Amino acid sequence: MYALIDGKKLAQEMRVEIKSGVDGFTRKNGREIGLAVVLVGDDPASQVYVRNKIKACEEVGIKSFSYRLPADSAETEVEKLINGLSADKNVDGILVQLPLPKHLNADKILKLIPAEKDVDGFSDENTGKLLTGKDCLVACTPNGVMKMLERYGVQTRGKRAVVVGRSNIVGKPMAMLLLNADATVTVCHSKTENLKNECLSADILVAAIGRAKFITADMVKDGATVIDVGMNRDENGKLCGDVDFEAVKDKCSYITPVPGGVGPMTITMLMYNTLQAAIRRKVGL
Ligand code: NDP
Repeated sequence: MYALIDGKKLAQEMRVEIKSGVDGFTRKNGREIGLAVVLVGDDPASQVYVRNKIKACEEVGIKSFSYRLPADSAETEVEKLINGLSADKNVDGILVQLPLPKHLNADKILKLIPAEKDVDGFSDENTGKLLTGKDCLVACTPNGVMKMLERYGVQTRGKRAVVVGRSNIVGKPMAMLLLNADATVTVCHSKTENLKNECLSADILVAAIGRAKFITADMVKDGATVIDVGMNRDENGKLCGDVDFEAVKDKCSYITPVPGGVGPMTITMLMYNTLQAAIRRKVGL
């Protein structure tokens, strides 16, 4: 009998805890915590993400500063904005919504965000610190997965974890976090030979692939914990994960659903990171 890891419920519980941390910070320091959200262009999905982030800020008491620039903005214009936000004492975190329009050099723009305000945890400094096991701002999605494992008491120490996907924003930091939590980690990708056998060895299987229902029941070990990061549309246009949930669930001890699993945790971890960034800046970390 499997147990569902309820990301929606956990995210809600964490938002209450974050709100209390934010309120405490505001009381003690006489100023609000600030998150700047920069959106360039009018990509509809990005607009929804930005709206949800601003809503989450309101919910936990973080002040959001929203900047919307036209799609044809010059690189110098975006750079000027980021440099201004970097120097602004009232801004604790800076988030540039990706993807940026093609004519802009995303790498160059993201590099302008100082590591202490990099609430997405994508900067070289933060990813380097994660690699060496140092305290840092960690990418929201994999960090949210770790919170799920912790809160549901899923042991990582000594366990075999398999991460399918090696992107810089999910797969790689996910693997580092699991390794830092004493799991024995294998990272798989599109060139992995015999993926099924690799997956079958997993006590904890994390799917971050971007292919609907790719992980099937024959790839999952009995009693495994399965974490589905994927966000895809199935043949009927319905939101689904990388895991064939209905077929896989009965083999699992724990499994995350899509929707209602990893997704709600990601924005919550952005709020968590913004609070952490404010606290760390205050104590000079
Ligand atoms: P990327 O496209 O950047 O990476 C996908 C990874 O999957 C790559 O490493 C790729 O391998 C691997 N892959 C693709 N096909 C196969 C295959 N047939 N067998 C094995 N590995 C394969 O995606 P992201 O990491 O950005 O996102 C992954 C998924 O997670 C997406 O569905 C995305 O929407 C979702 N997502 C969800 C979030 C949430 O909050 N829930 C947040 C971020 C992402 P290779 O490197 O060899 O190409």
